[in-house]
Amino acid sequence: MTVNNIKTVGFIGLGQMGWPMASRLAAAGFALVIQDADPVRMNDFCKQVNGLIKVAESDSAWAEVDALITMLPNSKIVEKVLLDSGVARQLRPGTLLIDMSSSEPICTRSLATTLRESGLAFIDAPVSGGVKGAVAGTLAVMVGGEIEDLERARDLLDCIGKNIFHVGQAGAGHAAKALNNYVSAATLLITVEALHAAEEFGIDPLMMTDVLNASSGRSNTTENKVKQFMLSGTYGSGFSLKLMAKDVRIAMNLIEAQRQLAPLGRSSLTVWEQGASVADAGTDHTEMYALLSGKDKIK
Ligand code: NAD
Repeated sequence: MTVNNIKTVGFIGLGQMGWPMASRLAAAGFALVIQDADPVRMNDFCKQVNGLIKVAESDSAWAEVDALITMLPNSKIVEKVLLDSGVARQLRPGTLLIDMSSSEPICTRSLATTLRESGLAFIDAPVSGGVKGAVAGTLAVMVGGEIEDLERARDLLDCIGKNIFHVGQAGAGHAAKALNNYVSAATLLITVEALHAAEEFGIDPLMMTDVLNASSGRSNTTENKVKQFMLSGTYGSGFSLKLMAKDVRIAMNLIEAQRQLAPLGRSSLTVWEQGASVADAGTDHTEMYALLSGKDKIK
């Protein structure tokens, strides 16, 4: 392995986002060593995606990788996989770990220290842009860590994202990601409230969406979610309600740790956590449109 020459990439977490991200790496010619808790998903990935792909049958497979990406639900699972189950112990000294999950920034700082003390390099590089952006390779990527480690990962990240930001030291990427979703989550709620109010008043929500999109209420929610996933009733954005609630909670923990006032964010968190308490694992975050339909579904 030379410093900038990453050829074999480990990829753990082939979910809604991980699958298309890993597919793009395979298509770009990186050899992959993959793992997911769901064996069916791993087999399907090997069958459906072309490229040099190997399933990590045992932990020793990780010694082959030059870089290891995690795309997992949260910090607890990232730590469990890397530290408790011993994946990190199998990596060669100097291997670059890249946590692209939306994890907890404070946990990320201490994970980065632990990994560095073991002779490994680490950056956090969470993403925004949804499944659509993951398929197209147009995600925004927010990187925390040393700039040299970002440069080592540059070729890899270029396959996955369009805008790559170095936002600070380890954990800063995860902080920026959580704060982005904090804004996005509150915007979605206020938009849904406005759409229901419009409908009650006799304005077609499709018309109201066109008005918002041509006016100052325009947002990613109005442009890319309302008609596509809410008014169509498909609720299929590929980002679960529980994961959105997790992200708002991460941002609120960060804000509370800094003793900032955040009355709007607190209300938003309450609504997302109430939604998460009645949602199952597969409930899409855009289903908040139905949950807030004024029929008292969230109590
Ligand atoms: P997902 O639930 O679809 O996928 C998670 C994957 O991790 C699953 O395939 C699951 O089987 C696997 N997994 C869980 N525990 C594991 C373990 N112990 N070992 C190995 N594999 C394990 O989630 P997702 O939507 O792909 O999101 C992944 C991360 O990216 C989350 O942190 C999420 O917040 C973030 N994110 C999601 C989106 C989106 O639009 N879906 C966008 C940006 C960021």
